[in-house]
Amino acid sequence: MAKIAFIGLGHMGGGMAPNLAKAGHEVRAFDLSEEALARAVEQGCSRAGSTEEAVADADVVVTMLPAAKHVLDVYRSQVLGKAPTSALLIDCSTIDVASARSIEEEAAAQGYTMVDAPVSGGIAAAASGNLAFMVGGSDEAFAKAQPIIEPMAKAVIHAGGPGAGQAAKICNNMILGATMIVTCEAFVMAQKLGLDPAVFFDIASKASGQSWSMTTYTPVPGVGPDTPADHDYEGGFAAALMLKDLKLAMDAAQHAGAYTPIGSEAEELYQRFVTLGGGSKDFSGIIKMLDDSWKA
Ligand code: NAD
Repeated sequence: MAKIAFIGLGHMGGGMAPNLAKAGHEVRAFDLSEEALARAVEQGCSRAGSTEEAVADADVVVTMLPAAKHVLDVYRSQVLGKAPTSALLIDCSTIDVASARSIEEEAAAQGYTMVDAPVSGGIAAAASGNLAFMVGGSDEAFAKAQPIIEPMAKAVIHAGGPGAGQAAKICNNMILGATMIVTCEAFVMAQKLGLDPAVFFDIASKASGQSWSMTTYTPVPGVGPDTPADHDYEGGFAAALMLKDLKLAMDAAQHAGAYTPIGSEAEELYQRFVTLGGGSKDFSGIIKMLDDSWKA
């Protein structure tokens, strides 16, 4: 069993760290929020007074932080040079590919092994150990990271070299954002054309309009499985986070010279929804903007 430093115990990390403790690891947790730290301690992690203290004799460091600026700052000032160089570094935050590659290079230059390992699955999957991890790093780094990640995961996939996990994550979420919007458009149009939403769901779920957004995350209340639509679009995956991921995707597309007109349109529509006040709503709540019923 390993000594694991876990930094960032928010919506996601707060569910993930206890799963490592339940698997028998010694988890030394730290978060700037005392409330988040106290919850992790209640669930089997031990308390560290700072990131430096948590990583001091760690075998593994796991981070789950909001965005690239936090990841770069924490690694540069509190992890690299403070954790033993034998420690395996696993960043699970969603950040841009270029930042992931540059921090992995800086870590490697100091003798560390590091992977980017962003996740798909949301808060419930984080708590139940059912996240999908997309891992970027060398074959050796992946082989070391896989058994550590497993108690938090339903799938651990090696995406490729450094930054490849982040590349897979933003490409995946570009599909998700775009299919959610067009699924919402189709439900609104179907209703205006006189179709019963439940009948349309039944048809599209079995026809070529099927997608995860249609079948598993249906954006209309009372239709299909229980989703945030059935709870006034509360909980789930915030529209502001979808917008963040689409911005990362569009930056990456520009750098890579990829033509992504639908991804770009999806970013604009989520920007409009967030500007109207929908940022904290589930991302499927964009249907309210499309059917003109949104009142911020
Ligand atoms: P969050 O804001 O709830 O949690 C982040 C935590 O990091 C907070 O508790 C904050 O106090 C802590 N933190 C910030 N700076 C710190 C520092 N310097 N030292 C120690 N702790 C610090 O965010 P989240 O929803 O848990 O998301 C984390 C990451 O996972 C993001 O990159 C997000 O895009 C990604 N993600 C989120 C979801 C989701 O459904 N929420 C799903 C997939 C991926």
